[in-house]
This record gives sequence, structure tokens and C-alpha cells, in this order.
Amino acid sequence: MKITKPHVALLASPGMGHLIPVLELGERFVTQHNVQVTVFVVGTDASSVQSQLSNFPYPNLFNIVSLPVDISSLIDADASIEIKIIVMMQECLPSLRSAISAMKFRPTALVVDLFGTEAMAIADEFEIMKYVFIASNAWLLAVTLYAPAINRKLLIDEHLNQKKPLKVPGCTSVRFEDTLDPFLLPDDPMYDGFASVGMKMSMADGILVNTWEDLESKTLASLRDANMLGSLSKAPVYPIGPLVRPTASQTQESKVLNWLDNQPDESVIYVSFGSGGTLSAKQMIELAWGLEMSKQRFIWVGRPPMENDASEFYLSLTGNNCASNFDYLPDGFLTRTKNVGIVVPMWAPQTDILSHRSVGGFLSHCGWNSILESIVNGVPIIAWPLFAEQKMNATMLTEEIGMAVRSKQLPTESIIDREEIESMVRRIMVDKEGEEIRTRVKNLQNSSKKTCSKDGSSYISLSRVAKGCEISLLGQLAMDQG
Ligand code: UDP
Repeated sequence: MKITKPHVALLASPGMGHLIPVLELGERFVTQHNVQVTVFVVGTDASSVQSQLSNFPYPNLFNIVSLPVDISSLIDADASIEIKIIVMMQECLPSLRSAISAMKFRPTALVVDLFGTEAMAIADEFEIMKYVFIASNAWLLAVTLYAPAINRKLLIDEHLNQKKPLKVPGCTSVRFEDTLDPFLLPDDPMYDGFASVGMKMSMADGILVNTWEDLESKTLASLRDANMLGSLSKAPVYPIGPLVRPTASQTQESKVLNWLDNQPDESVIYVSFGSGGTLSAKQMIELAWGLEMSKQRFIWVGRPPMENDASEFYLSLTGNNCASNFDYLPDGFLTRTKNVGIVVPMWAPQTDILSHRSVGGFLSHCGWNSILESIVNGVPIIAWPLFAEQKMNATMLTEEIGMAVRSKQLPTESIIDREEIESMVRRIMVDKEGEEIRTRVKNLQNSSKKTCSKDGSSYISLSRVAKGCEISLLGQLAMDQG
């Protein structure tokens, strides 16, 4: 077999929010940059891997290798979602190594995500290039790269005890209320683990990030500036986004899309908490009343309430398992709202919904994929952050980008009552404020299109990565021959 193009292997950590952007990255490499791609998909067992790929839009574009790992005997079932993912990513390493070793055409580069940095050692063993792909934004990348350089005593004194913002050179500071979980536990192994991720990332051949120049110019400048964050990492940063799942070419019948077809333009608010988020029972009741009182049309992806774990469904939902009843909704809610809204159990075709002309707002938990999907479709957001870096994202959307409104209190700290929810919905769907936000998000929509077009900055960034892989491949081939 004559090898003519580089082969990039992408390792996706578990959860649809991680897998979807990795698959999109694979698609771009193959269709736009003449690169062969293998995607490693980690799941709790073979059927969970299969089910994560059930709505996979590119069945023949690249090679998929599943890496099932059983962690049931290793950690408690009620361990946090982060711990579960970390352990799964550690456990998959031996099978990743064997799979690469067995490949006829060895990868030219291995690309890992934020949870996969331990696998970079495997790239070193095989003497291939190693890249990190941040499926979130440059601000999260900045904080992660900065983590190993943070003075722990200052972190505890100022950020934790005095609740002062965490200063990140050249970037927006992180408010204490928005801070990442590891910073709340400076004596926990989680903190060291996070700092070590930052350290490993700084040694990559490059860091790809799902953002673009115009969206985060200030942070990207700091990441490149040798007097700012650029001093902490030798890895060039490549903003290559927005990578978002495309809308499906709708051949299947979809009740929700048919319903949307019959609604006026920009009249529906879509309510969803990502691939695994959910609310407490009390909060769910307030949300239902708030939507009803707003008198706006809605689509709500409803999931059974959870009291102490907003990310309960993160590893179990894949778009396939959709049965659920709605006994957690207020009595009579479904009947009273049947002409204005739909509650979809567990999972909905989100990108199809957001791209529909009838959708005019998105109440979102602020996962980065959801935010990007909203931007590329020009849809204003009600920010409702739940976990991970979502509070930082919500702050960025409301205070820097100006494409969202949010509640006065954090939804993680207190119950947001029905009156405030009604008011937020009306602010983006009805009020003048909403019109202004819509204009801003439509401008961003244009900028997101431009950056991915052939002479746009994200397109050029990814072509540089592909070129780097091509040069490495040529070197490899020359060595093999000589
Ligand atoms: N998603 C979907 N249908 C749903 C819920 C989520 O298609 O009912 C997709 C959504 O379009 C996005 C991803 O799952 O691509 C969720 O990623 P995000 O980063 O927004 O949040 P996470 O799930 O990682 O918290």
C-alpha cells in the first residue's frame, strides 16, 4: 500500500459532549485537509460505544475503533462524573497502545482531549506527533495552562478564602463564583491532576481549540504572547472552530421538527441542559411554571429530576434511549400547554432544532457545544450553567459577548423562581433587549461562517496542523527508506 497522506488518530473521552466535537474534527481533517483519520471511542462497554455512534453522521468517512472499559469494580457508582471519566481514560491506555501497535499504517499524530493527556506518553513511545484538542474555549485552555504556575498559597489566601477573582495573565479573571472545581480543593489529588494536565498540554506539538480568532482575540493573544501565557507553553495554539455537528438531512419523520414547521419564525424557545444535565424536582416545577407563565412557545428536553447530581445522565444518554414519563411536571402542565409547547423525553435532535427558522431562543446549561450551535444558528441564550466550566461560559456570554441573559443568583446556588424564569424568557423572546442580543448573535453567526470558509482563520489554522502532519509523515517515510 502506497502511503500518500498523513494518518491522524483522535482519542475521544466518554460522553456525547466530548465525542461529537471530536467526530467533527475528524470530518474536517478528512474532507478539507486530505488526512486519513481513525477515531478511538471510549465507552463503558461495546454496546455503549455503539450507541454513542448511533446518530453518527459520517458512517464511511473514517475508521472507528472502540475501546470498551469496565470501571464498575474500580470506583463507586456514585463517584463524580469527572472521576469516572478520568478512570475510564486511564483504563483505556493499554488497549489504545495495542490498537496503535497493531495498525498497518501507524498514525502520524495522536490527538487527545482534555481528559486524554496521559495518552500523550503513548504517542512518545511510538515517536509520533501529539496534539491536544480542547473541545471548549480558549479561556478554559488559558486557565488550564496557567494552573501549574499558580502559587498555591495565593490561590488559597486570595481566591478561596478572600474570594478574590483568579487573575490569569492577559485574560479575563475568573470570579470565585465561577471557578473550576479543582481550585476549590487545593489539597485534593484532583487539583494536582488538573495542574498536571496543564503541564502535559504545554509539551504537545500543538493545541487545537474549538474557538476562533474573532470570538476570543484577547485570550488567544495572551496564549501567544511570550510575556503572557505564551511563556508557559511551547505548544502553538490553533483556533480551529467552530466545529459543530451538522443538521441531519431530515429524511426521518420527526414529531418535534414537524411541529416546528407549523410555528411562526423565531417564536419558540428551546430548553435543554446538554447531553446529561438535569435539575432538582423543585427547580423543574419552577421551570415548568416559568415557561407556562411566559406565554411563549417552547420545546423542552425533559429528564427525571436529580437532587444532588446535575450531571447524572452524562454517561448514559446517547440519543438512543429515550423512554421516560413526565410525572415530575406540575399537574395539568402538559394539557394546559399542549397548543404552545412540546416536552421531548431525554434527548432531542438539537442541531436540527436550533437551525429551524421557528426557534428564537435557547435556555441552555452553557456546554460549549451548545453555545457554538446557538452561535452558528444566530440564537440568543438564557444562560443556566450547571457544572464543569459552564459558569465561566455563562459569564463570557453575558458580560463579554453579549449574547445571553442570566438569572441574578446562580442556578447551582439557589432555586430560580418561576417569575424570574418568565421574565428571562420574555427578555429574549419579546423585549427590545432580546432584539439587540439577536443582532449581536447574528453578527457572530456571520463571523463563525467566515472563519471556516476557505480563506478564513480557522480553516487556515487546521490546514497548518495538517501540513505539520504531512511534513512529519514525509520524514517518517524517508527514515523508513533510508
Ligand atoms: N445534544 C443533542 N440532543 C440533546 C442533548 C444534547 O443533540 O437532547 C447534543 C448537543 O447538540 C451538543 C452535545 O449533545 O452537541 C452536548 O454538548 P455540550 O457541550 O453542549 O454539553 P455537555 O453535554 O458536554 O454538558
